[in-house]
Amino acid sequence: MRILVVEDEPKIASFIKRGLEEEGYAVDVAGDGESALDYAESAQYDLLILDIMLPKRDGISVCQELRMRGLKTPILMLTARDTVDDRVEGLDAGADDYLVKPFAFKELLARIRALLRRPREVTPTRLKVGDLILDTATQRAERGGRVIDLTLREYALLELLMRHKGQVLSRTQIAEHVWNFDFYSESNIVDVYIRYLRLKVDADFEPKLIQTVRGVGYKIGEAR
Ligand code: CA
Repeated sequence: MRILVVEDEPKIASFIKRGLEEEGYAVDVAGDGESALDYAESAQYDLLILDIMLPKRDGISVCQELRMRGLKTPILMLTARDTVDDRVEGLDAGADDYLVKPFAFKELLARIRALLRRPREVTPTRLKVGDLILDTATQRAERGGRVIDLTLREYALLELLMRHKGQVLSRTQIAEHVWNFDFYSESNIVDVYIRYLRLKVDADFEPKLIQTVRGVGYKIGEAR
C-alpha cells in the first residue's frame, strides 16, 4: 500500500515516513499544498495523510480540489487545532477521517488500517488464494498450514496481488503501489521481488499460484 504524506514540518514528516515504512507502507512526502496536488496526480496512492496548515495552499483547499477532480482515495487530515469547526470543515472538504496533533503513532496506524479496509465487504482482512492465506490485520501469511516469513516489501507485494486475485497487474501498477518514487527507476525491482516471493510462497508447494503473464505482468490465482 502506498501513502502520500503531506506535511511541511520536516521533523514530523520524516517521523511519519519512517514509522509507516517500518510497517511496510511505501511512502512519498510532499512539503506544500501545490506539490501535494502534483504528487496525487502522478501516482496511484492508496491513502493520503494531509496536514491542514501548509505553505502555498492549505490542506482544506487541497482536499476540496482533489475531490473535485474525482479522486476517491481515502484522506486522513492532520491538524494542530482541535475545535469542532475545524473537524467539520475538514470532513466537509471531503476528508474521511481526522487526527489531532500530537497523536500516538499507534492511533495513526489504526486509523490508516480502518480507512484501507473500507468498504469492508470489498476488502476483507483475510485474503485467500487456494491454500494461501494472508491476514492483513496481523500481516501473517501461511500456506497449507505453514507460516511463511515475509519481509515488509514482500508482504506488501503479496497483499497487492491477493487483493487483485485473478487480475493481471503490470510491473508499473505493482511498482506504483509497493514502492515510492525513490525506487522507481530500478526497473527490474518488481521482477526481483516476485522471484523472492515465489521462493517463499510457491517453491515448496503445488500448485504454483504466482503467474507470469508474458509481456504484461503478474497475477496470483489458482492455475486451472
Ligand atoms: Ca503544517
